[in-house]
Parts: sequence; structure tokens; C-alpha cells
Amino acid sequence: MKILLLGAPGCGKSTQAKLITDMLNVPHISTGDMLREEIKSNSKSGQRAKIYISQGGLVPDDIIFDIVKKRLQNDDCKNGFILDAYPRNPSQAMELAKITKLDLVLYLKVDNKKVIDRLSNRLTCTDCQKSVPKSSGYANCPYCGGNLVQRPDDAEDVIKVRLETYEKQTKPLIEYYDKVSNLVVIDADQEVEKVFNDIKMAINRK
Ligand code: ADP
Repeated sequence: MKILLLGAPGCGKSTQAKLITDMLNVPHISTGDMLREEIKSNSKSGQRAKIYISQGGLVPDDIIFDIVKKRLQNDDCKNGFILDAYPRNPSQAMELAKITKLDLVLYLKVDNKKVIDRLSNRLTCTDCQKSVPKSSGYANCPYCGGNLVQRPDDAEDVIKVRLETYEKQTKPLIEYYDKVSNLVVIDADQEVEKVFNDIKMAINRK
């Protein structure tokens, strides 16, 4: 099954994507994670992407599309995939439509204030990219033992710009996918397990 997770930064896309991946045995494709890997390896795309990410804007479409297109051609995508954070604007959605057809679009709806709280209070592992609340008190990542840091784009001033970018560029996709695809709204203001339960129901109805 080809699934897209849509929603504001901090709505829980990555957490849910990992759970869905385990359930359906299809890869989790996160453009955010892939970009951070490019930055880590100091590649040309990574160097370009870093500037946009640190300011809270979107990375130019050409960088993103090259990365996604290559990734979707991998053998492990034959039976489907979970797309997390791609597409993120209408032109990316048009490009994606040229190469594949989505089966299900899950819009994780969450309150803006909650999103700001979640993002400014989380630490992210530089190895496995999972995150934990600062208040959990972990010195290292509880999942893999890696380094926990605050993502540079989780600084409060950058969060604000990311949310504005989301409102302007990504939110219009909700209306678009509601027309052209099978869009299901999920209440992401609940506990992780409850959100996942609603997602499972949406998947099983497909
Ligand atoms: P979040 O969804 O919480 O903002 P991500 O890890 O998905 O976190 O993305 C982090 C940053 O990477 C974004 O703010 C943006 O700059 C960049 N990015 C990720 N996906 C895309 C995309 N599809 N198009 C352009 N930029 C992207």
C-alpha cells in the first residue's frame, strides 16, 4: 500500500510512520531524515539544503525530487511505502503524480499550540532520528544509545517560520488530496497508541 502522511511539523508523522512500517512491512521514506543524512555526509545537496532547513523554509524542489525519485525506484518500494513529509507543496504533488499513484492519504490533524510545545520540548537522536521529550531526562537515546540533541530547526524562532511555511505551502495539499485521492482525517491530538489505532482502522477499510 502506498500511503502519504500529511500534517504540520510536530504532528507525529514520523512516530506513526515507524509504527505503520512495522505493521505493513513497507519502507518509511522521510525526506527530512534523508536531508539530514545528506547534511551529515556534507554532500553538495546537503550543503544547499542546510541553509533552507536552518531558516525554516522548504528545500528547493529539484534537490528533493532527485532524492525521492531515486528512493522510490528501490526494490523495497515494490509493495508500497510510507511517505513522510513529501510532497510538501503543490508542485511536488504534481511531480509525484507523474511517477506513482497513492492509495491512501492520512492527514494528522493537530492543534497549533500543541505543536509548538512538542517541538520546543523534544530531543532528537542523531543516529536513529527518533525523539523523546526533554522532560524524560534521558542522557542518551533510549532506542539506540545514540546522541540526543535539540534539532537546530526546533529552536523557537525557526519553529514559527516552519509553521508559517506549512500554512502557506503544505496545507493547500489537504484540499487537493481530498479531491484527487482517498484522504482520511486522523485526530492526532490523542495518545500515540490511539492515533495509531485510528490509522489502522483507516488502513483496514482500504
Ligand atoms: P517537520 O515535518 O517536523 O518540519 P522534517 O524532518 O520532515 O520535519 O523536515 C525538516 C525540514 O526539512 C523542513 O523544515 C524542510 O526545510 C526540509 N524538508 C523536508 N521535506 C521536505 C520537502 N518535501 N520539500 C522541501 N523541504 C523539505
